[in-house]
Amino acid sequence: MNRRAFLLGVTGFSVFTALQLSSSHNKVDVKAAAYIIKWQRSDTYWRDTLTPAQYAILRTGATEPRYSSPYTKLEADGTYHCAGCQLELFNSAMKYDSHTGWPSFQDYIKGHIETYTDFKNIAPTTAYRCAQCGGHHGHLIMDGPLPTGQRWCNNGQALEFKPA
Ligand SMILES: [Zn+2]
Repeated sequence: MNRRAFLLGVTGFSVFTALQLSSSHNKVDVKAAAYIIKWQRSDTYWRDTLTPAQYAILRTGATEPRYSSPYTKLEADGTYHCAGCQLELFNSAMKYDSHTGWPSFQDYIKGHIETYTDFKNIAPTTAYRCAQCGGHHGHLIMDGPLPTGQRWCNNGQALEFKPA
């Protein structure tokens, strides 16, 4: 293959990939409920109130290592709240074992989560944050169980579980 053919090949592949990705990601576009009052807090506030791991996830979009959260395997009845502001995001009826190493939910509390496009990786992905404090929680992947087909893949350290 000469250089020109190689470059054309690369360009063709990129366009194809971009088209594929733009049609496959962001299948669920969710917004904050009208009654949510968005928090405005300083970086100092978050550094003072969150653990370093929570700060890295919620405020900088980091991802915790797989199987690092005890919530991944937790099956108890209760509710899962944002560790930043205590807004309820999920409940145990929505949780399932995805075998991915992160707490996974097939549905969410409507109006309490907002999706956004994450450009950190090579391919854009659908990420989501708490609708109230704006803290990053995880990514939405469309390989969950029916009927939703959604996997809300959440960092366990960004959540706080409250038993029923
Ligand atoms: Zn929050």
